[in-house]
Amino acid sequence: MDIAIVGAGAAGAGVAYALREADATVTVFEKSRGVGGRAATRRKHGCRYDHGANYVKANEDRVTDLVGSTLGTDGLVDVEEPVWTFDASGTIEEGRESDEHKWTYEAGITQLAKRLFAHTDATVELETRVGAIEREGEGWTLADVDGADLGTFDRLVLTPPAPQTAALLDATAWDHDLRNELREAVEAVDYRTVYSVLLHYDFELDRPWYALVNTDKEHDLGWLSREECKPGHVPAGESLLVAQMAPEWSRERYDDDPEVVKEDVADVVTALLGDERLATPDWTDRQGWRYALPEGGLEGDAHRRCAGHGLYVAGDWVVGEGRVGRALACGLDVGERLR
Ligand SMILES: Cc1cc2nc3c(=O)[nH]c(=O)nc-3n(C[C@H](O)[C@H](O)[C@H](O)COP(=O)(O)OP(=O)(O)OC[C@H]3O[C@@H](n4cnc5c(N)ncnc54)[C@H](O)[C@@H]3O)c2cc1C
Repeated sequence: MDIAIVGAGAAGAGVAYALREADATVTVFEKSRGVGGRAATRRKHGCRYDHGANYVKANEDRVTDLVGSTLGTDGLVDVEEPVWTFDASGTIEEGRESDEHKWTYEAGITQLAKRLFAHTDATVELETRVGAIEREGEGWTLADVDGADLGTFDRLVLTPPAPQTAALLDATAWDHDLRNELREAVEAVDYRTVYSVLLHYDFELDRPWYALVNTDKEHDLGWLSREECKPGHVPAGESLLVAQMAPEWSRERYDDDPEVVKEDVADVVTALLGDERLATPDWTDRQGWRYALPEGGLEGDAHRRCAGHGLYVAGDWVVGEGRVGRALACGLDVGERLR
């Protein structure tokens, strides 16, 4: 049995992991240079930072078992400092105590997908963007965006965010009503956009919290966290703030000059924390996540009926919750069904 998985994020890694002992040849196609998808890590100037998902929550027993034990706890980080809140007026308050884990790795959150794949024999083809799909007999033939043949597979699992999966279904030659039915259901899943800006300072920022979250959703800033709370990420005596802007702000400013956007974000952070030093970071970085978090989940049962034809979907948008743990669990489910 030849199985193709499109996308090497948490969901794709979950599918491959669940198939690790199956009698199947698994090939994963990933358009980026590395695995992890939106659970992403970058390195710059001696710092390592998670610029997409900040941490994995243990929201399911399976995920707790995997992250907290099976995949290895060497280099596992559980952020201990709390998450506080702020509102539209910029009032910061102590958040509710939570005993949930906030897991990442010293080497960054991409470790999660790397460790999952390391348990498998799957072949991961990086920098390979699937651009076309064709139903051939009982199989699925894939081609990259330049039309190069990527092979024919008995089963196909699509895990890109819903709008990208919808585009792939658009580029699928399959003369069956289910193709349109599934595409319409996938197209209906909206995503929120998040613009992430990284602000680095060569001094320590002494605060009692790891992160601040905007609870009334009325502030331009949605989330602010201190990457130095994750061991192995920021050298001692430095500070690296991760600012994730609110969806509306992010959408409006998405195509603006990045330098201007970063300056504006530094001003928002300076005002919130009331510390003038924060207006002039010594270096910055940024990432626009056009498809950051799904607004809802996949409706209907077209995707279940597609499984009868060897076509599957997995990802945070299938379950309707933008969480690494949920995407992973969804991938595990699909992998188990395939097995
Ligand atoms: C800024 C931000 C902050 C977040 N914070 C948190 C958090 O703190 N905690 C949390 O649990 N979750 C958080 N999330 C959500 C979390 O990152 C996602 O829910 C989860 O990573 C989704 O995993 P996935 O596998 O479904 O999708 P993805 O990670 O998006 O994986 C899909 C993969 O498919 C690839 N792909 C797309 N199209 C193609 C193609 N045509 N060919 C080949 N490959 C393709 C993509 O490159 C990607 O690697 C955050 C997300 C963002 C953007």
